[in-house]
Amino acid sequence: MMLERERRDVVAHCRRLRPDGLVVGTSGNISVRSGDLVAVTPSGLDYDELTPELVGVHRLDGEPVEATLAPTTEMPMHLAVYAGTDATAVVHTHSTAATVLSTLADELPPIHYLIALFGGPVRVAAYATYGTRELADNMIAALDGRTACILANHGTVTYGDTLAKAYSQALYLEWLCEVYLRASSGGSPRLLPPEEIDRVRRKISSYGARPR
Ligand code: 13P
Ligand code: ZN
Repeated sequence: MMLERERRDVVAHCRRLRPDGLVVGTSGNISVRSGDLVAVTPSGLDYDELTPELVGVHRLDGEPVEATLAPTTEMPMHLAVYAGTDATAVVHTHSTAATVLSTLADELPPIHYLIALFGGPVRVAAYATYGTRELADNMIAALDGRTACILANHGTVTYGDTLAKAYSQALYLEWLCEVYLRASSGGSPRLLPPEEIDRVRRKISSYGARPR
């Protein structure tokens, strides 16, 4: 089987999407790139039924190489991220707080220092119908200098150099949106200045478990 490791990784993360509250039903999709190929979830298949064999392998122009089912309808978004960035994995969710924010705001502001994980405030991309080239174009514009964006009246997109990182970004983005919405319901939240976000961005690049 081609890209066996990547396809297993996609299945393992898809199994977490619903328990982690990132999607409802068959919403959302995940892909992992390896060289000139991409392993991507099929459209509309229940995540409980997903197996590594049912994760399709396609070329970066979308042509199927080893795929029994039609790929995600959001293939244009996934391929646009690979064409425009050095991403190795893309995660698209419909997580609740981010989707609520996507109907109310043009940006997730610097409410918490962890916004630095994404490169700065996370923009809301202009609305377009799901699965369209227009949505992919709007997403690319919103991703400028960021590893995440929110899709107006739809959901989120995050990417990373591993699937673990792209997935963890989806979780952090959802948490930040939740914090912002709750803070906003209590008043006008205090925001952090751009200099502080820049400082954290430099500092956080070395954050993580390491020898003493
Ligand atoms: P797929 O089932 O085609 O991946 O679509 C889900 C989705 O989230 C569309 O925006
Ligand atoms: Zn979607």
